[in-house]
Amino acid sequence: MSIISCPACNKQISSRAPLCNYCGFQMGEVTEQDLEIFQARKLRDTIYRLNMASYLVITVFIAGFGWYWWESKGFSQASGMGPFILMGLAAMAYLVVRGMLFRSRQQRKAMRAKKQMSKDLRRNL
Ligand SMILES: [Zn+2]
Repeated sequence: MSIISCPACNKQISSRAPLCNYCGFQMGEVTEQDLEIFQARKLRDTIYRLNMASYLVITVFIAGFGWYWWESKGFSQASGMGPFILMGLAAMAYLVVRGMLFRSRQQRKAMRAKKQMSKDLRRNL
């Protein structure tokens, strides 16, 4: 018995298990097409989550800016480092999220570019 990662959810499962006990993916009759559809769904979910993360990060940045405005009494006084640290972290996180989003979109583009893409796969991308 060995430990493999589920093709659908990537969690660690036993290679002998008939189905994944996390997502219910059937390990037995997996065709290449099934696998592609699962990967397409995963990619779609990843892109969705990354989009949400980028909105969250933008919100944090705006909050940091608001904090700076509040601490500097409308930009008339010096403010502490707190707001700058928050804005800096948000800016870095934004770059990371955008980079990951770019990579996921490239993957999706590559999948869409495949000639014989089934209808099922197209629906899930
Ligand atoms: Zn699974």
